Amino acid sequence: MKVKSIFLISALLLTSFASMLVSCKKDSTSTPAPTTPTTPTTPTTPTAPTGTNVPAVYAKIYGATSTITTDGTFVTITTNGVPDHKSAYYPTSDALYEAYTGTTFSGVTFAKNPNTIATQTFTFKIPLNPTVATNHAATPLGVIGLALNGVALYNQYAGPNNQVLAGEITSFDKYYGHPQNTGQYHYHVEPLYLTTVKSTKSGLMGFLLDGFPVYGPQEENGTTIVSSGLDAYHGHTHTTVDFPNGTYHYHFTADAPYLNGNGYYGTSGTVTR
Ligand SMILES: [Zn+2]
Ligand SMILES: [Zn+2]
Repeated sequence: MKVKSIFLISALLLTSFASMLVSCKKDSTSTPAPTTPTTPTTPTTPTAPTGTNVPAVYAKIYGATSTITTDGTFVTITTNGVPDHKSAYYPTSDALYEAYTGTTFSGVTFAKNPNTIATQTFTFKIPLNPTVATNHAATPLGVIGLALNGVALYNQYAGPNNQVLAGEITSFDKYYGHPQNTGQYHYHVEPLYLTTVKSTKSGLMGFLLDGFPVYGPQEENGTTIVSSGLDAYHGHTHTTVDFPNGTYHYHFTADAPYLNGNGYYGTSGTVTR
């Protein structure tokens, strides 16, 4: 009886072992399951929380640090102004610090300026329904708008009395931004992280303080924009995916003035910092 039991157990074990061998063999010789080719998808930008009556397009401002709200006149957006991408301008202790040597905007060699990125407390109040200004006020030095990641947008001048930007371009980091002397990081030109990682060359990039949107250096049909094709304020009007009824909008361009020309197209809102 005992012998018979042992025999049975051994037989069972052998059977299971044999089936394992068979199944292993089967696995190794089986043809791989057909894979469906994946079509490349356009990058999807994360979205910001938005409150009641805030148009959906503002959810694209993913760098907002609190819920985007509106009082029916202005849209209020708060950001900390720091980039969500690596930069040679972060303190070396920061996870987003990355040393950089190479070229930057327009192919010039990167030369770091002495400044370091510092956290800001921006509150933007931009018109919910932008209106064309009759005076087209000049854009000031400093913050003139915001990018989708919450970083400040600056105009085409390096300093007072319309000092040209040319000499500053060398200090733009690998994503074409840099901090000024108080650590306020900003873009004067195409924000490369947004046009190549978070969105596309034809995507929405942000808003100027007058509430009119800013787009990348291409139209949705792939045409590259040049400044001569835009008006004096560096924009024009047509429909976009975000504004199917059409809107005035600015474009970044590779040539000066890069983002804004002879002032705001509309009546400016405010930014506190
Ligand atoms: Zn600057
Ligand atoms: Zn356009």
